Amino acid sequence: MSRRRLVYEGKAKILYEGPEPGTLIQYFKDDATAFNAQKKGSIAGKGVLNNRISEHIFTLLGQLGIPTHFIRRLNMREQLIRQVEIIPIEVVVRNVAAGTISTRLGLEEGTQLPRTILEYFYKDDALGDPMIADEHIAAFGWATQDEMTEIADMAIRVNDFLCGLFAGIGIRLVDFKLEFGRIWENEFARIILADEISPDGCRLWDMESGEKLDKDRFRRDLGGEAEAYQEVARRLGLLKGDDANMVLDLEQHRAKRGK
Ligand code: UDP
Repeated sequence: MSRRRLVYEGKAKILYEGPEPGTLIQYFKDDATAFNAQKKGSIAGKGVLNNRISEHIFTLLGQLGIPTHFIRRLNMREQLIRQVEIIPIEVVVRNVAAGTISTRLGLEEGTQLPRTILEYFYKDDALGDPMIADEHIAAFGWATQDEMTEIADMAIRVNDFLCGLFAGIGIRLVDFKLEFGRIWENEFARIILADEISPDGCRLWDMESGEKLDKDRFRRDLGGEAEAYQEVARRLGLLKGDDANMVLDLEQHRAKRGK
């Protein structure tokens, strides 16, 4: 591992040079941050679970014809991905009011929104990822108008699929964040889904109890973060057979931390 060239280290993931040009290895850490990294911690086994959950979701999206950067999972914490030119925008898809939209617009958390809402945030840690409008994206050249149309269409398709997937396992998909990248094929740029889809970037509420099964457990000091992520993986059918190793990994982490 140490021989590989580190390309980028983020808050929850590390990117290494991949085995072939145009590929990268995405390593999932247990580190967790919130509120623009003002709160830092770790969730035991999170990296293993997010690697697996994201693999599962990206594979299903790929089967629906949504192009993604995912190539294949390599091991418990790593996946091989296509290298993309990241579009510096976080696309947030909202079905139910929670988090910043609730505070910004004074909406009670849990209020069903009249329709799905897309919001855009400029990826810049120093600025605290400010919310932006389509106008800014076009004016500053972060993406073209056509690319934004493509991104919005894809975000809605992903949302429709994920709402159904999660509803089928008793989970309400409140909101989530997507990131997109550009890949060049000759002179032609194509938009593909990048980053990850996991409880780190989604709000997932149990449909019956309303229990939070996502990173809000960490953000709001609710406890039981690892168990919540594990519950999502279990309901997705990912903790069977060989994947029980993941639980083992989780247990080992917990034992190490003396919990
Ligand atoms: N989100 C994310 N990364 C960010 C900001 C938001 O993954 O940097 C996700 C977050 O997990 C939630 C959704 O986007 O599912 C909407 O987040 P919100 O704007 O409410 O901000 P937050 O409360 O997460 O700071």
